[in-house]
Amino acid sequence: MKQGFPHRARKRFGQNFLQDEHIISRIVDAIKPDEGQVLIEIGPGLGAITAPLLARSGKLTVVEIDRDLASGLRARYSTHEGFTLIESDVLKVDFSTLCQGQRCLRILGNLPYNISTPLLFHLLQYRDLISDMVFMLQLEVVERLAAGPGNPDYGRLSIMMQYHCRVEKLFRVPPHAFNPQPKVESAIVRLTPWATLPCPVNNYALFEQLVRQAFSQRRKTIRNTLKHWLDNTALDKLPVDLSLRPENLSLADYARIADILDQHGSTH
Ligand code: SAM
Repeated sequence: MKQGFPHRARKRFGQNFLQDEHIISRIVDAIKPDEGQVLIEIGPGLGAITAPLLARSGKLTVVEIDRDLASGLRARYSTHEGFTLIESDVLKVDFSTLCQGQRCLRILGNLPYNISTPLLFHLLQYRDLISDMVFMLQLEVVERLAAGPGNPDYGRLSIMMQYHCRVEKLFRVPPHAFNPQPKVESAIVRLTPWATLPCPVNNYALFEQLVRQAFSQRRKTIRNTLKHWLDNTALDKLPVDLSLRPENLSLADYARIADILDQHGSTH
């Protein structure tokens, strides 16, 4: 095993360490690290993908919260000129300090599953700086990220992520690829911020509010969601079938409705 130092896995930090060399190479191949790129690895742990990433790119910044793992990584890599360790909670990291310019960051990692949704939303704040992200996540979360209308996994996470990024589900990873083994299946996903948003909205806060409100009552019709925002005359002019449920409307539908609400000066 390539991973260096002894460590007892901590559940509260979502620690499941990759140990399958074949899966590790598939992940690194999917990332395609190259010299000159600004690579940031979240949660390097015992270094399963850190070592091959560093070998192929020559430069890598890692963010690790666990003090013991951070000190093991420091001992192992501190002599490597291209290695930088940020010992911190990744949710507190200001990614704008890590590169200058647009679309320069490549963010990677086998993410701690307990913080994956807040982390994805944290990273979206920096979308203009990010060239792409390749993550291992719980399979169920990857299904939700990639789902389209009509799919039971489709919801707020799908719409908000697809608003900002192209979502590609790459491959599944079984529990036995890790130590300790997680109870759930995992998958690798690539998230690439769009150079030009496919469905830009005029008022992003309103769009967020609309999507949140719609999926807080996903069994009700979209008419029911919208009646708090528009009167019946305005509702009947909307270019969508109001008898549909929130899960049947596309990102483009939500964007269109948000712009109409914005024109009406509607707030909920
Ligand atoms: N990359 C390693 C691997 O694939 O074997 C470890 C992956 S493990 C699923 C998640 C890693 O994220 C652990 O090293 C854990 O300590 C770290 N971690 C958990 N919460 C974190 C946080 N809030 N900020 C930074 N790192 C965190």
